Amino acid sequence: MMLHYTCQQVLDYLSDYLERSLPAEELVRLDEHLAVCPECVDYLNNLQLTLSAARAAYGERETIEPIPEPVVAAILAARRLAPPNVGRGKNETN
Ligand SMILES: [Zn+2]
Repeated sequence: MMLHYTCQQVLDYLSDYLERSLPAEELVRLDEHLAVCPECVDYLNNLQLTLSAARAAYGERETIEPIPEPVVAAILAARRLAPPNVGRGKNETN
C-alpha cells in the first residue's frame, strides 16, 4: 500500500524528523525505512549528535527554528559524512 521511502527521501525529511515537525504518516514511513536500512539509522545517529552539538553552539533560543540546510550541509562537510546511497556526484578531495 504505502510506498517505501528511498534513502534520499529519508535524508530530505531527516531535519523535520529531528525537529519532530513531521506529520504522523511521514514519521511511520520514515521509521519503516529506518527499520530496514542500517545505513540511514547510522546516519541519523551521527546527525543527531552533530545537530545537538550545533544547537549548543547556536544557543537554546534557536531550537524553535528548523536547522537551516546550509548549516546542516556545512556540518556534514566538516564531519566528512557522506549520506548513504545518495548520488550527488563525487566531490572528494584526493
Ligand atoms: Zn536508507
